[in-house]
Amino acid sequence: MASMYKMPISKLSGIGKKRAELFNKLGVQSVGGLLNFYPRAYEDWSKIEKIDKLKHGGTYCIKAVLGTPISDAKISGGRIISKGMVYDGTGSVQIVFFNNKYISSMLNEGEEYLFYGKINFKSFEKQMLAPMFSPVGSGAGIHPIYRQTAGLSGKTISNAVKQALSLLPKEINDPVPEPVRRKFGLCGLRQALNDIHFPKNAEALETARKRLVTEELFVLNLGMRSLKEHSRGVSGVKIKDDYSNDFERLLPFKFTGAQKRAVKDCINDMTAKSAPMNRLIQGDVGSGKTAVAASACYTVVKNGFQAAFMAPTEILARQHYETFCRLFENTDVKLGLLTGSMKESEKKRIRQDLSNGKINLVIGTHALITDKTEFNNLGLAVTDEQHRFGVAQRAKLIGKGKNPHLLVMSATPIPRTLGLIIFGDLDISIIDELPPSRKPVKTMLIDGQKRKRAYNFIKSEIKSGRQAYIVCPLVEEGELDNVASAEEYAAELMLKEFSDIPVGIVHGQMKSDEKDEVMQKFAANEYSLLVATTVIEVGVDVPNASVIMIENAERFGLSQLHQLRGRVGRGKFQSYCVLVSDRCSAETKKRLEVMCATNDGFIIADEDLKMRGPGDFFGERQHGLPRMTIADFADTKSLELSQKIADYIMFVYKDIRCDELRLLKAEIDRLFERGGHNSLN
Ligand code: ADP
Ligand code: MG
Repeated sequence: MASMYKMPISKLSGIGKKRAELFNKLGVQSVGGLLNFYPRAYEDWSKIEKIDKLKHGGTYCIKAVLGTPISDAKISGGRIISKGMVYDGTGSVQIVFFNNKYISSMLNEGEEYLFYGKINFKSFEKQMLAPMFSPVGSGAGIHPIYRQTAGLSGKTISNAVKQALSLLPKEINDPVPEPVRRKFGLCGLRQALNDIHFPKNAEALETARKRLVTEELFVLNLGMRSLKEHSRGVSGVKIKDDYSNDFERLLPFKFTGAQKRAVKDCINDMTAKSAPMNRLIQGDVGSGKTAVAASACYTVVKNGFQAAFMAPTEILARQHYETFCRLFENTDVKLGLLTGSMKESEKKRIRQDLSNGKINLVIGTHALITDKTEFNNLGLAVTDEQHRFGVAQRAKLIGKGKNPHLLVMSATPIPRTLGLIIFGDLDISIIDELPPSRKPVKTMLIDGQKRKRAYNFIKSEIKSGRQAYIVCPLVEEGELDNVASAEEYAAELMLKEFSDIPVGIVHGQMKSDEKDEVMQKFAANEYSLLVATTVIEVGVDVPNASVIMIENAERFGLSQLHQLRGRVGRGKFQSYCVLVSDRCSAETKKRLEVMCATNDGFIIADEDLKMRGPGDFFGERQHGLPRMTIADFADTKSLELSQKIADYIMFVYKDIRCDELRLLKAEIDRLFERGGHNSLN
């Protein structure tokens, strides 16, 4: 099989240079690649329906005799319409073809065929428009439907696949060892490839799918594990002394038990003599991850090394910077901020101080991982809101030092099964406790008619000293204008409802220094109300804010809403989240009611994944994992099975580099190369 990936697609007969290019367009370069070009759907010709059972609008396969010769007729524009009647003993169907002058010579009166197509009821007749057909005996089974591109028909693709399959040797070396297949009921690769393309029946297809889906997931799983193993070989930056107790004295509050445990995990990892720390801190919004990270940074700095803290947005980086400035005011920690929007000269100065070691704790955005940024002796790399960064970006930050420790933080409650894969290369500390005196946010769903009441409620909160957010989604250009744009909406609020209240606006099109200014004024309580688009989504911390009203709530995913809601309820005040939706279908309502029913991010994430699938859940491949060809991250059952298999494989074979797993290792490398990752050695 391995050699098939080296065989160019043009080796197949009937595939010249031009067709090969079209295949390339579909992402297929080699014969092996073609075998992995799985059908996107199937037509089931294995289940034959009787004509009297056909329903209007359904797609069926029928077995019927052509009772009349096909008659051609010319219609307007010189086009041809061909018709015939077919019978199966329970009824008749008219078959209709357009513009195919060969039909009449392809179908013979009195012969039996399989016809496959969509059924239309037309007055007294049942019609099948432009059905596909094949003589009885050759067409049965399940037919693959491939993703196509102009100039390359499904038929050509399917013929090429047939050829490729015939080139496979009878006994192919299966990357999944036989004992593993036997234990978990997975069919062999040869059978799987045959049946994923040309299954005889639904059962054969299911067997093939199970094998290929599970394999892809446990190959990924094993790959993520060996990423982790990889860094185990070397020893990390040496941290000798633990300063976490000193750090705690700097805080204006006491750590929760969960925070203490997380800090301890970090200190243990960093002071251990072996490998560098590779740790994920997972905790729901508001659980206090920043302070845990700050503690780790402090210990690293006090041991004479630099620490870098990377955030996904400018606003967040700035906010962390300010928090840290206050926290470390009377210490010898020397702080720096590095973001993309800063003046070149300023950036240059910060970069100089990083490379000469004058700054020992830097907070920043992606600007931290550009080539220009160099560190003197990076000891700890922290990434906040990890789901916003890919595995590759994480690696890049680590690459700025010699085996620095790594701490990643995530509030995105990723469903457990998926988390095991995505974070398969990390140890995990979970902060499952909110700071004391936090009250759960009360959430309600209203329609636009109650908007006025919601405004009044916001006013009363503001009157008693609190602050509020109103969120409306960013309007893309050319979108329906019944979705309020942040600016217009805010202008109206300022002029009417909230004319005697200071209102700030942030939206996506503002320059980041403008946004920051507004955010800072809001944080300083110069604005009582902030009208915003999703830019406030992650991390922003204003404990005095007690209400968030979210317009067009139906436009957000549940996980996003949960993040937004996390902007309130961060202090000691009872807080509220008001979801507004005017166009609330029953389904939307059900979805939004999940928000009202629970504050548990994990439940919400599971619901979100169930309802929307992982594509939306993560936005644009934000998880940084390689792209799957057949597996689906929402398929929890397969995720669980693959996890079990990966455990079993590591238990039995111990080392992924052992000879029995040679072929499997090659599959892992191929998967990660496809995702733009470096080969795992
Ligand atoms: P997140 O986990 O969402 O990043 P933050 O680290 O921003 O949360 O913390 C949220 C808020 O809770 C901040 O205002 C922070 O100062 C406060 N906080 C964190 N830990 C505690 C604690 N143990 N007791 C009281 N307040 C805390
Ligand atoms: Mg945070």
